[in-house]
Amino acid sequence: MGDSALLPCFVCGDVLTNAVPDVENQPHGGTEFRTYGCYGSTFWDSFDNQELVLNICDGCLRERTDRLAVRTPSRGFDGTLVHFGDAEA
Ligand SMILES: [Zn+2]
Repeated sequence: MGDSALLPCFVCGDVLTNAVPDVENQPHGGTEFRTYGCYGSTFWDSFDNQELVLNICDGCLRERTDRLAVRTPSRGFDGTLVHFGDAEA
């Protein structure tokens, strides 16, 4: 634990600082993404609850909103998935 988040931005490689002290990975100006993977991936599909973790900085997210979607869990069992710009706040 330290000033730097555990991981740099997955896209641009920038080092991210932690938003709060004494945490392992709480990027300031970025988001930590976690996944168990999914059926269909030939890279990551965890069967023992291991998570794949990556950080993406806010700048890289903003530059690529056309590649993002938002899932709203309250709108169905798995939620409704809509493209980022079409999501209601
Ligand atoms: Zn970045």
